[in-house]
Amino acid sequence: MNKIDKTTFDIAIIGGGPAGSSAAFYLSKLGFDVCIFEKKEFPRETICGEFLSLEVIAFLKETELFNSFLQLKPNLINKVKVYDQNSVLGTNLYFTAYGIKRGKFDMFLLRRAADYCTKVFQPAEVKSIEINSADNYSVLFEYNKKLLKITAKEVIAAYGKRNVLDKHLNRKFVSSKSRLNGVKFHISKERLSSYNQNTISIFIADDIYCGINCVDDEMATICFLKNDLLRTISAREHVLYLCKQNKFFGELLQKVSEEELNKIKLYGAGDIHFGKKEIVQNGIFMIGDAARVIAPLIGDGIGCAVQNAKLLSEIINEKVKKNLKRNSTEEIYKHEWHKLFNKRFQTANLIQHILFNKKCRKAAIKLINKVPSFLTQIVKMTRAQVLTETFSESQRAKN
Ligand SMILES: Cc1cc2nc3c(=O)[nH]c(=O)nc-3n(C[C@H](O)[C@H](O)[C@H](O)COP(=O)(O)OP(=O)(O)OC[C@H]3O[C@@H](n4cnc5c(N)ncnc54)[C@H](O)[C@@H]3O)c2cc1C
Repeated sequence: MNKIDKTTFDIAIIGGGPAGSSAAFYLSKLGFDVCIFEKKEFPRETICGEFLSLEVIAFLKETELFNSFLQLKPNLINKVKVYDQNSVLGTNLYFTAYGIKRGKFDMFLLRRAADYCTKVFQPAEVKSIEINSADNYSVLFEYNKKLLKITAKEVIAAYGKRNVLDKHLNRKFVSSKSRLNGVKFHISKERLSSYNQNTISIFIADDIYCGINCVDDEMATICFLKNDLLRTISAREHVLYLCKQNKFFGELLQKVSEEELNKIKLYGAGDIHFGKKEIVQNGIFMIGDAARVIAPLIGDGIGCAVQNAKLLSEIINEKVKKNLKRNSTEEIYKHEWHKLFNKRFQTANLIQHILFNKKCRKAAIKLINKVPSFLTQIVKMTRAQVLTETFSESQRAKN
């Protein structure tokens, strides 16, 4: 069990979330010899509203995984409602989205990647990355309680928003404190009072917002982002706080007693950094949340992760085909990353900023109440352009 039969690869990917799995999928399809490391056994929980937007659905269609995804019985979502403390705004989404537990979705993606890539090490935690020379890296990892090593020409970091490896790599954001914390829990749909299965609802109060959507026929996900700038209170206290601050949220959870709430398992992530990060560090390409975390309000994190994976896969393919130097490949990647994502990240941050600022929030709600179509415009502003052709078709056209 502790022996590995192969120790050299073209590409090593650290992290088997949506970014890592989709990068493994694309790169393997392009003919690279890929290995992927995932430290946790799947299914695992991760902090997320579990809302898959049109960018993710486009990715699933492009990679011809959509039909098998539907067999997982995700919950269809086609409406959005926003509950401020005193008013309710709502609109139809102009696309179809889905809710699904991340444990289920991420396992599905990693399995599809495993169908194509050379090796999935799981559970295997990468402990360090060493640069031997340009285009030659060693990856040290723990697998079956042994420390092992492989070498690869490229290393892709898809290890999520914050990681001990960031410290080893001397990434600048490591010491920053945002005091923005995420909390997620699952609750039986029956415990919610009059909840529409096909709606994503957003509840807002001072220093907190929360998204709710069903993830299958029985369960709903409730996910918060809370701003602890003033004082630190526990995740459970935040649920109670939102119940008091937003009467609609209080009504929704009226059947749930404090005792019942105390028994529910909450998942949290502390100090989420939404600012800029290095896109490439020490020659290692960052993707997904490792490259930058998007404000969760617009439900685009998974969409960004899979699009980022595709972007980098195509650039690595060009590097090999055209024999590009490492420096110029890195510059191309940084340039293209900013071109693809800067506007989306800025819009998401701006909307989050407005929500966390009482005056701005009230003004925005007033405006939407006067011009309801503005809500649809805001939803449109946050969405990316998506592809209509499959990955195989686009590769054939390029060749
Ligand atoms: C409060 C909140 C709500 C959100 N809601 C939504 C939403 O509704 N919809 C949406 O699209 N996005 C949402 N997001 C964002 C979304 O969760 C992330 O953008 C997405 O998970 C990023 O995928 P990733 O693959 O980059 O990272 P992750 O999903 O975090 O995956 C990283 C993986 O790397 C593994 N790993 C870490 N370190 C190592 C190591 N050393 N060795 C091996 N493996 C390692 C981890 O175990 C993990 O499986 C939300 C985010 C927050 C904070």
